[in-house]
Amino acid sequence: MRQMPRKQPPLEKFIVAQIVAELRKYPGVVVRKRHGTVMGKAGDPDLYGTIRGKHFEIEVKRPGAPCSQLTPLQTERLREWRIEGGAIVGVAHNAAEALAILGLVKHEPVWTCTGCHNYCWRGEEAPERCPLCGHRHFDREAA
Ligand SMILES: [Mg+2]
Ligand SMILES: [Zn+2]
Repeated sequence: MRQMPRKQPPLEKFIVAQIVAELRKYPGVVVRKRHGTVMGKAGDPDLYGTIRGKHFEIEVKRPGAPCSQLTPLQTERLREWRIEGGAIVGVAHNAAEALAILGLVKHEPVWTCTGCHNYCWRGEEAPERCPLCGHRHFDREAA
């Protein structure tokens, strides 16, 4: 019997790298990783940058990890950036959430079942088969 791999949430540094790579695809966005040093302010978020001239701060958390809650200090820093600094702030567990925080909607293709023409699916890849008619072929349309 094949051993099932334990499903672990990705490490935060991988999520951070994915978010940075994704945000760099968008024009008008500059994003930086904030490196924690003794010179830094404790509790400041993991990512910062600007979107069309507006400052943003994003705290990155691993999905489902026990330590994925904001600390009181992190909560206070996000509040400070938002209320006192007027920045866009949010907590992201993946690239899609970071895009949502910045109001950037990812344009994923829409797939339509060529069997029943009644089932649509939004995503990078077509589904395996149509849940309505069982057909395996889909037409791709731009979002
Ligand atoms: Mg973090
Ligand atoms: Zn169908």
